[in-house]
Amino acid sequence: MKKFILSVIFAIGLNAIACAQPEIVPQKVAENLYVVSGMGGNISFLITSEGVIVVDAGNLPRDGAKVVSLVSEITNQPIKFLVYTHCHGDHVGGAAGLPENITIIGHTKIVDNLKNFNEVSIKNNIEKAYPERIAKLKGDIDNFSGTDSTELVKLNDQYNRTLLQFEEYKKIKIRYPKVTFDDLYTLNLGEQKVDLLFKGAGHTNDNIVVVYRNYNIIHAADLVFNGMVPFLFVAHGGTPSGWQRVVQGLYSENFVTVIPGHGAVGGNELLKTQSDYFARLTADVKKLKDEGKSIDEIKASLNAAMYGLKGNEHQFPINVEAVFGEL
Ligand SMILES: [Zn+2]
Repeated sequence: MKKFILSVIFAIGLNAIACAQPEIVPQKVAENLYVVSGMGGNISFLITSEGVIVVDAGNLPRDGAKVVSLVSEITNQPIKFLVYTHCHGDHVGGAAGLPENITIIGHTKIVDNLKNFNEVSIKNNIEKAYPERIAKLKGDIDNFSGTDSTELVKLNDQYNRTLLQFEEYKKIKIRYPKVTFDDLYTLNLGEQKVDLLFKGAGHTNDNIVVVYRNYNIIHAADLVFNGMVPFLFVAHGGTPSGWQRVVQGLYSENFVTVIPGHGAVGGNELLKTQSDYFARLTADVKKLKDEGKSIDEIKASLNAAMYGLKGNEHQFPINVEAVFGEL
């Protein structure tokens, strides 16, 4: 299981890295609030008269550095705070690219998670996964016997890109939060009030949401995957029933805008859609289980498209398994 998780995390990292660095333009969602997409999980930042609050840092140090440069193009205010919504690498890996003197805030449980999951998977990727992948590509190139030279060009290109990705990946340094909290932490900065809330485990056991009170906008992070199959690792404290409960509760707060962890920014209905997905999946899995179907049969009879989801399809059977495990 552990090996599987590590390889999944590695795959997430690689995908995100491969797709990184297109033209990144912050999306303005309120007067002083911006969302940055395309560098791992969605990042948001709020500019106040006393400094800037950044929520999540992207995948890699260069992503964090990109956030710094994007912020500086809009304001002279310094970045004062970095909030981690949860422990996953595509939300915290960029922290090394942010200034040294910021205060990092996260849920109490993120500290152990960073130590037990992130540090371990980074070590594994650096010592094993990346070198193996690079050696494999090198072997494929050295032993290439095909007649199609474009294939060889592709392999070489892939090899060179992987070497570059590896160099950047090695710069990841886990930065631990200086401030942690259990249920609520309020940031009053300048004229802005920002609540950091933990409403229970769902995506992970350390998943918090950030509510920009002046605008009634929520950065729900990975408690909302817009339009795609959500990632759910039971080993990270993920729980489908908890997830459904948390987003259902948040939906009743009628937010003007919801910033998801992945996918496009939307309205309050994103919370309901996420809640409905887990409710429906749970009902469907339960029905099949009650009919005497095995977990493998259930996995074979349901798929992401039936729920209108596109993207992360490989995660769908894992969602089914997690739901099945809770019944
Ligand atoms: Zn996540």
